[in-house]
Amino acid sequence: MGQHGSASGSILLGLDGFEVTAAEVIDHEWRLAVQTTATTVGCAACGSQARVHARRTVRVRDLPIGGRPVVLAWRKRIWRCVEPACAVRTWTEQTVAIRPRAVLTCRARAEACRRVGKDAHAVAAVARDLGVGWATVMRAVTDHGQPLVDDPARLNGVAVLGLDETSFLKATRVAPTRWVTGLVDLEGGRLLEVVADRTRAAVAGWLGARPAAWLAQVGTVALDPWRGYASALAAPLSHATVVVDHFHAIRLANLVVDQVRRRTQQATLGHRGRKPDPLYRIRKLLLTAAEQLTEHGRARLRAGLAAGDPTGEVAAAWQGKELLRAVYAADGMLAARAALERFYRWVDGVEVVELTRLARTVGAWQAEILAWHATDGCSNGPTEAVNLLVKKVKRVGHGFRNFANYRLRLLLHCGIRWQTHQTANLRGRSPHLVA
Ligand SMILES: [Zn+2]
Repeated sequence: MGQHGSASGSILLGLDGFEVTAAEVIDHEWRLAVQTTATTVGCAACGSQARVHARRTVRVRDLPIGGRPVVLAWRKRIWRCVEPACAVRTWTEQTVAIRPRAVLTCRARAEACRRVGKDAHAVAAVARDLGVGWATVMRAVTDHGQPLVDDPARLNGVAVLGLDETSFLKATRVAPTRWVTGLVDLEGGRLLEVVADRTRAAVAGWLGARPAAWLAQVGTVALDPWRGYASALAAPLSHATVVVDHFHAIRLANLVVDQVRRRTQQATLGHRGRKPDPLYRIRKLLLTAAEQLTEHGRARLRAGLAAGDPTGEVAAAWQGKELLRAVYAADGMLAARAALERFYRWVDGVEVVELTRLARTVGAWQAEILAWHATDGCSNGPTEAVNLLVKKVKRVGHGFRNFANYRLRLLLHCGIRWQTHQTANLRGRSPHLVA
């Protein structure tokens, strides 16, 4: 190809205002020579038609084509004003698609942000696909992602607010586990914010920064009752109904089942659970909702308890968990109260230490647990769904050391509504052949 662009090459490139003048594959990468389609340009100062003075080639990476990284060699025009009286001599053409001194085209940077943010792909994987370094991709994620995350409209329309804690970094030999608090829109199922702590002050600080109109819209707050959250809500959200949702209550009950199972394993076997141990083998079945167990699962559960739970404490904890679940499954407030009484009576009867502790917490939060039935059963699903997304981001970005990066990636993945591109059906018009 000579100086003239190839029509099909330019269509495939699809970079507005550019045409492809040559293409070849070198070292498994596409090398495309491109130029702008601007052939007549006026001088910005005097308006007379400019002439091409010289060309300078800049190299920039673009979106992959057919799985190959792409390098664009942009033959940039340097224009010259031919009007002798004009003060302007020469200038270099510019485009919004490729910023001065950029390593990547703007659309490649936006796509890098979308892949890391929306799809939760690893920064290193995206960098490899584009043929650039980790830092280049991370900079693109920050430049394109930060405005999306900072947009105040992102937080609009929250009627049911959920609070949840997730561990940010697991403990190492030299540092304790660090925690963050996630604030979730329980109707929209999106992450609103993560604050770097799980203290009252961290949540109060974020709520304190919200406009009064935003706070007034929040009618219900669902929270993890075993933290200092409730007092953080007292002032700014005193009008809202505070609820201990299904998800958090059952998570705690499951924790109790696990604790009793571990203690029993240690007491009966003298070591922590191992693969062939009867209780270890049913550890997941113990946490499964009873009505979701298959006939086979129920049989395995019974056999595991018969073999590994001589004192019956694991079975008692399991029953306690199911009785607490029944409080949430109950049809209305009266039935829920009755279910709660059955739970307390069971705990009193079986005298399992961990279960007694759970019942004390349940007692302290009884009003908020029952309030769940007064709020039309505000859903626990979104917290769970968001937690799964958070886990995915953590898994991909193993070794987060920087909270700002972590927050950005979590919010891009769980807190942004991305525009999705609709692809056309394959059946349709065939392209016209060009000579
Ligand atoms: Zn001029």
